[in-house]
Amino acid sequence: MDLATVLLLHKSSFIVGAICFSYVRWRSREPGLDLLAVGCCLLAVASTLAGMGEQGSIAVVLWTFGSFSVGVTGYSLMAMGLLRLSCRQRKWSDWILVAAALILSAIVGGMHWYEYNPARAAIFNAAAAAFLTTSGTRIVKDFFADRLPARLGLLASLSAATAFSALVVVGMIFPDHAPIEPRYAFFLLIICHFSLALFVVVLVQERAESQLRHLANTDALTGIPNRQRFLASLPGAPRNGDAFIMIDIDHFKSVNDLYGHETGDVVLVGVAQAIAAIAGKGMSLGRLGGEEFALFLGNQTEETAFAKAEEVRRAVKALVFSAGTTVISPGVSVGVALWKGAGDLQKLRDQADQALYCAKRGGRDRVQLYVHSPLLTSPGPTDSQTAGCLR
Ligand code: GH3
Ligand code: MG
Ligand code: MG
Repeated sequence: MDLATVLLLHKSSFIVGAICFSYVRWRSREPGLDLLAVGCCLLAVASTLAGMGEQGSIAVVLWTFGSFSVGVTGYSLMAMGLLRLSCRQRKWSDWILVAAALILSAIVGGMHWYEYNPARAAIFNAAAAAFLTTSGTRIVKDFFADRLPARLGLLASLSAATAFSALVVVGMIFPDHAPIEPRYAFFLLIICHFSLALFVVVLVQERAESQLRHLANTDALTGIPNRQRFLASLPGAPRNGDAFIMIDIDHFKSVNDLYGHETGDVVLVGVAQAIAAIAGKGMSLGRLGGEEFALFLGNQTEETAFAKAEEVRRAVKALVFSAGTTVISPGVSVGVALWKGAGDLQKLRDQADQALYCAKRGGRDRVQLYVHSPLLTSPGPTDSQTAGCLR
């Protein structure tokens, strides 16, 4: 494969990249894609200038200095685009990369280094390696906050491109011990460019899927897991020590009626956050609907489950919301049921519901534990009426 063919492919890889990034930018609102597209366009122009220079069809200064400055700026824009795509932020400080590329171009132009092919190629590839390393470092850093598998592919592509650029630099400085011929290095870089474009597209796709999953599982108002997510997080069958806690805000309808639906929403969010702050690891929490929440926790005794429910009741009781000139202090009624070796999850949930009903009947703002073997008093209500209502 001759150098002219490799240069043609090299240019093509940037054109494909520019088309790819422009399309994804059109379909998504992710930051950085526009910069990646512009960076690829500039690199395609630089590669075209270099190709025309090889054929001797343009002035020497145009292809030597032109391809250098346009190419280095292209790499800086690509690095900036990757930084923004990785952390999903547009920071003014990212423009430092472009400023660095312009300063480097001014130095190379001012010192006339562009006239010496090995010096120009070495500086160009060293700058490319530095820009690629900068974006690769950010991609690794952001992996812990945003664990998308495509980041690994991006990182591999960037690392390989950095390594090949660095090998070209070594070859330019020590021509007698060049580790790789430039045309092979260019060819390998082409593969890196294609895989870079591919993994950028995959990353955008993975991010969109993860957002959709989050939206599908989250209650839009309160931000805690919704009913489906909560039910899906429960085990198939209950085990000894599993506890179901049902929580219902007292007289919530009157909050809406007296202060308006928007104030009601603020109260709902506040109560949800208070419950979420108590729900620790290993517990499932969800908004079942309306002003009803549920907690599911394992390894409990009647005492610990009751204490957890009481903690929730007290945390909500401590909340205060202002509504004009008055304040709202919501309260909750809580029903607790502990699995005792009989029945399925639905039964456990019904028992917690029953205990909640008893807490309401008992005067609200209280916790009621479901009682499995109610004592009967005579004369008195029937067994089915008292179950769950004692204690
Ligand atoms: P109780 O003490 O017996 O639980 O009475 P309650 O008023 O809390 O219960 P009820 O079931 O009568 O009313 C629940 C209210 O919750 C009615 C409904 O308008 C309100 N609600 C349900 N979802 C939302 C919501 O997302 N936002 C607001 N602001 N209100 C809601
Ligand atoms: Mg209620
Ligand atoms: Mg209710």
